[in-house]
Amino acid sequence: MNLVTPVLFDRFPTPTDLATADPEELEEIIHSTGFFRAKARSLIGMAAALEDRFDGAVPGAMADLVTIPGVGRKTANVVRSVAMDLPGLPVDTHVLRLSKLLGLTSETDPVKVELELNPMVPAGERGDFSLRLILHGRRVCIARRPRCSECVLAWFCPSASI
Ligand code: SF4
Repeated sequence: MNLVTPVLFDRFPTPTDLATADPEELEEIIHSTGFFRAKARSLIGMAAALEDRFDGAVPGAMADLVTIPGVGRKTANVVRSVAMDLPGLPVDTHVLRLSKLLGLTSETDPVKVELELNPMVPAGERGDFSLRLILHGRRVCIARRPRCSECVLAWFCPSASI
């Protein structure tokens, strides 16, 4: 369960609040998430960027999102698909691994994989597609011990070991 964000958003409800946060106080709040110093720097930088360049609002365009400190293409796609209902196919470690196992791509670079998968999935379903692969990778196609005999995709998966 995410125990950090309720405290974080209660203490710093707006980008202005977060942009002017005391780094040590912020580090203490997010300490349990790991890499807390770098994350605190990114959070303050992210909030300052929203304030300075986007009138305090989160932009929707990929080209804008990836200019914000701490935001890479994967995070930008999560923001677009989950928070904004815009097309976005986040490629995390599960999506990367499963799309290769399923024979959907031979690429290994996450951006190239995303660009190769995008035309295969209707724009409005890309976020859900990514989430399904992530859940499948956690529950069935587990790294190094895939449960191929229980997998609903085994009938067409070129990597099935049954
Ligand atoms: S058949 Fe096996 S390798 Fe292929 S997706 Fe399912 S669990 Fe993974």
